[in-house]
Amino acid sequence: MARDYAADITDPIAQEIVSNVGVWVDREVKPVAMEYEHADQFPDPLVKGMSEMGLFGIKIPEAYGGLDLSFECYAGVCMELARGWMSLAGIINTHVLVGYAISEYGTEEQKQKYLPKLVEPEIRCALTITEPDAGSDAQAIKTTAVRDGDDYIINGQKMWVTNGQRAGVYLAMTKTDTTANPRHKGITAFLVDAGTPGFAAGRRLEKLGYKGVETTELTFDDCRVPATQVLGGSEGRGFQHIMSALEVGRINVAARGVGVAQAAFDDSIRYAQKREAFGKPIFEHQAQQLRLAEMITKIRAARLLTLDAAR
Ligand SMILES: Cc1cc2nc3c(=O)[nH]c(=O)nc-3n(C[C@H](O)[C@H](O)[C@H](O)COP(=O)(O)OP(=O)(O)OC[C@H]3O[C@@H](n4cnc5c(N)ncnc54)[C@H](O)[C@@H]3O)c2cc1C
Repeated sequence: MARDYAADITDPIAQEIVSNVGVWVDREVKPVAMEYEHADQFPDPLVKGMSEMGLFGIKIPEAYGGLDLSFECYAGVCMELARGWMSLAGIINTHVLVGYAISEYGTEEQKQKYLPKLVEPEIRCALTITEPDAGSDAQAIKTTAVRDGDDYIINGQKMWVTNGQRAGVYLAMTKTDTTANPRHKGITAFLVDAGTPGFAAGRRLEKLGYKGVETTELTFDDCRVPATQVLGGSEGRGFQHIMSALEVGRINVAARGVGVAQAAFDDSIRYAQKREAFGKPIFEHQAQQLRLAEMITKIRAARLLTLDAAR
């Protein structure tokens, strides 16, 4: 079954990886997903399995121990994870995109410090842009970072942070110049280690679905961070760096939609073949055949478009 889902991947190595992830999803994830979702429980054994398959290092360069696979492969993997349980694609999302930001824009010292650990994952990553008064309009953030000798002092509040309690490093969007025009020129991204004094994960936010992965508030209260933790080493580049990394997140999010839709279709067709009405399986009523055909056409189009965009 999983082999079919990987069939559209063009690169043979990526196809094999996606296929293997699909087999793992059917065997390990499908049977327990509902239990974890309803209990809103972090799936430690599943995360361990993902780690053993190397998925946390999927976009990390080989020189730092990662698999350095294509975005097409990443899209296929995320589709398969979401086909089993969407929260798994959420757990990996900010980790992969922060790893990508460090690989692409970090100083050599930052790459050496973080990338080998992200592969394990000895530490996982979170991304903190959103604030109580800044969502889609990310440049409206109010969190400030003020230079003080060799350090910066960060103050502000963040919202909706995926992996907010368990992450080991947070890529945080701040303002080093609140008067800059255009606004993005005053934005700087910091790598903040968990446990830094003045930095704390707050309330875990309740959700209707997409459970098992925590979403939290965060506060910076006179949090002192060395200037060496500015991503890439220079002020005013944070907006570009984070927006670029978010493109990686968009691949993940599109792939989640495909995976969830595929799972819904698989359940639908199974049910339509089993359930009988008016003397035959409902699958044999033409109106249901048309409905299922329309579903799979849209899913197939979404799958191909997502893989094409990822490539
Ligand atoms: C489960 C979950 C996990 C998240 N994880 C993270 C995370 O890890 N890190 C992080 O930083 N953030 C995270 N977020 C926050 C997410 O990025 C924001 O919710 C998103 O940026 C939208 O911001 P907002 O919710 O404040 O909505 P708003 O920006 O207030 O938007 C409200 C509505 O207005 C619409 N709107 C806004 N601007 C325009 C416009 N110009 N034209 C037309 N319509 C517009 C929007 O589409 C939306 O319908 C998470 C959110 C959720 C729900």
